[in-house]
Amino acid sequence: MTRPVDLRSDTVTQPTRAMRDAMAAAPLGDDVFGTDPSVNALQEKIAAMLGFEAALFMPTGTQSNLCAVLSHCGRGDEYIVGQQAHCYRWEGGGAAVFGSVQPQPLDHAADGTLPLAQIEAAIKPDDAHFARTRLLALENTLGGKLLPFGYVEAATGLAKSHGLQRHLDGARLFNAATAQAAQAGRHVRDEARRIAQCFDSVSVCFSKGLGAPVGSALCGSRELVARAHRIRKMAGGGMRQAGLLAAAASHALDHHVDRLADDHALAQRLAAGLAGIDGLMVEVPHTNIVFVDLADALKPKSSALIAQLAAEGILATGLYRLRFVTHLDVDAAGVDRAVAAIRRFFQA
Ligand SMILES: *Cc1c(COP(=O)(O)O)cnc(C)c1O
Repeated sequence: MTRPVDLRSDTVTQPTRAMRDAMAAAPLGDDVFGTDPSVNALQEKIAAMLGFEAALFMPTGTQSNLCAVLSHCGRGDEYIVGQQAHCYRWEGGGAAVFGSVQPQPLDHAADGTLPLAQIEAAIKPDDAHFARTRLLALENTLGGKLLPFGYVEAATGLAKSHGLQRHLDGARLFNAATAQAAQAGRHVRDEARRIAQCFDSVSVCFSKGLGAPVGSALCGSRELVARAHRIRKMAGGGMRQAGLLAAAASHALDHHVDRLADDHALAQRLAAGLAGIDGLMVEVPHTNIVFVDLADALKPKSSALIAQLAAEGILATGLYRLRFVTHLDVDAAGVDRAVAAIRRFFQA
């Protein structure tokens, strides 16, 4: 059988030959002593790219968000966050469990934004009844959606005017920047920096669309990163010859940012291919994630579809809605195979 087409997530990529070579060649030290040159180089590179004083290499995006929230907030503080945000909904409640930080979740508007009036209404006055509102956490992209840049500026400006800190879960910041750059006719790196500069801290994943095997970075001021460093140690995230992994991330920043546009084009191709099938509501993707809702009559078929696709070597997920994610290890032929298999299933 031909190679499987794995559309479950952009986390499934295998390191390329060139990335493995960069890893093998990386000079290593002990990052708990702060002496791993490859980790230090990566931290300096991502901080400079996004316009921050400092950055910290993290084993996962979850730990990066946790360290960020716990660096901004103490026991009895709260952070305002979206109901669908990864750092609220998909991280086991870590900020509450490990930090006694209360989330204040808000419903998203259809475009993924948190309405400004809702944010403002959720900011508590200084009163013994309330937790202290300290932080606004946004996510971009959110479920593959690009937050409009005007909104990002307005929401972070509002938070700042109320004395709140601002954190971005930018697991897919470079996908957001790629989409924004295409809209605005600008450069991806400039857009990544423009988005990042609206925030006091930004977490970026190297292990999603950028194609590295492991790792994230948390960027911020020297002071914030020093606090996060202590928390990362407590969380068990102090790694030793981590330069092996940092070298992969560094390679990804050098070679895999400009190609994200290819993943976005493939997502468009997939969405267009599925658009004509009866009973499928296909969301036009902004970036590399295609969501498909099934008409009520087709919903009972979704697990049979996932199973049939798997039998044909096409992997996808359908927890709530069907989800297809394009990445480094998917090509146009794979997308076309997926479209054909889905058509056959529904038109049989
Ligand atoms: C994947 C992801 C994370 C967490 O990353 P892990 O490395 O899997 O812990 C955080 N936020 C968003 C938006 C993500 O997509």
